[in-house]
Amino acid sequence: MYPAEFEYFAPSSLDEALSILERYGDEAKVLAGGQSLIPLLKLRFAAPRAVVDINRIDGLDTLVEEGGALRIGALVRHKACERSELLRGRHGVLGAAAPLISDPLVRNLGTVCGSLAHADPQGDWGSAMLAARAEVVARGPGGERRIPIDDLFHGPFTTSLAPNEIVTEVRVPDPGRRAGGTYLKLERKVGDFATVAVAAQVALDDGKVGRAGIALTAVGPSNLRATSAEEALTGAEPSDDAIREAAERAAQDAQPYDDIRGSAEYKRNVVRVFTERALRTAIDAARGA
Ligand SMILES: Cc1cc2nc3c(=O)[nH]c(=O)nc-3n(C[C@H](O)[C@H](O)[C@H](O)COP(=O)(O)OP(=O)(O)OC[C@H]3O[C@@H](n4cnc5c(N)ncnc54)[C@H](O)[C@@H]3O)c2cc1C
Repeated sequence: MYPAEFEYFAPSSLDEALSILERYGDEAKVLAGGQSLIPLLKLRFAAPRAVVDINRIDGLDTLVEEGGALRIGALVRHKACERSELLRGRHGVLGAAAPLISDPLVRNLGTVCGSLAHADPQGDWGSAMLAARAEVVARGPGGERRIPIDDLFHGPFTTSLAPNEIVTEVRVPDPGRRAGGTYLKLERKVGDFATVAVAAQVALDDGKVGRAGIALTAVGPSNLRATSAEEALTGAEPSDDAIREAAERAAQDAQPYDDIRGSAEYKRNVVRVFTERALRTAIDAARGA
C-alpha cells in the first residue's frame, strides 16, 4: 500500500526541525532511520500531515565516550554500535544487543534513539538501556530536558516524549571500573523480533554486586525493569544461590502473554533461564574488567 499523502521536510538544523514540529503539533512525525515509521506509513497505521527527516542535521551522529560515559546521538545507527569498540567490555550489554537487532539492512539504517522513541515492547535497545540506566536527552521548544530511561516508556509504542520534542541523544553513565554485561535474545529465526530477551549489566564493588541492571524484552507492555531481581542481587556476593534467586525473581517480574511466539508459561521459563545465564556472563565479564 502507498502511504497517505504528507508533506516532507528535510531541515538542516535542529531549530528548523523543532519549528516545523511546533507548527504541525501531533500531526507531524520525526523520521530517523525509517525502519519502523516507513512500514507504519505504508500500512496506514500512521498518517501524519508532515514528516520531518532529521538525517541532514549535523552533529546528531556522535558516538563518543566522555569520562567513561557514552553519548549516542540521534543518528547513530545500530550498525555503528555493532562495530564500535566503545560498546564492548564495561558497556557489554549494549555491544551484545546491537548485532541481535534484525538483519544488516535494518541495522544499516535504524537508529538507537529511533528505537527508544518508537517504544516497541519487543525492541532490544529499550531493555539494554534500562539495564545500563541510561537517560534520553530531548530538545523541545522550551529547551533541553533529560529523561531517565525508567520514565520514558509508558506502554506499548507510548513514551513521555511530547510530539514537539526531538531526542538528540541517549547517555549511558559510566558503569564503573569493574563492570560487565550481556544481552541474550531468543528469536524464532535470525532477524526476528524477540520471543524473549534479557539484558544484564553488573558492577562489582569489593567483590560484591554494587549495582545490578536487569531488564526484559517482549514480556510486558513495554521493556521492563526486573526490579525485584535487581534487589535480590544488589549488595550480595555473586554466588550461585544469589544468581538463581535473582533469576527466579526476574521470571516473576515478567508479565508475559500467550502469542504466536509461545505461551506465557514458556516465556516466563525462558526469562528465568536467560537471566541466570546472562548474570553469570555479566559477572565473569565484570571480574575480568
Ligand atoms: C524487518 C524489521 C525487523 C526489525 N527487527 C527488530 C528487532 O529485532 N529488534 C529491534 O529492536 N528492532 C527491530 N526493528 C526496528 C528497528 O530497530 C528500527 O530501526 C527502530 O525501531 C526505529 O528506529 P528508526 O531510526 O528506524 O526510527 P524511525 O522508523 O525513523 O522512527 C520510529 C519512530 O520513532 C520516532 N523517532 C525516531 N527518531 C526520533 C527522534 N530522534 N526523536 C523523536 N522521535 C523519533 C519517529 O517519529 C517514529 O514514530 C525491525 C525493523 C524492521 C523493518
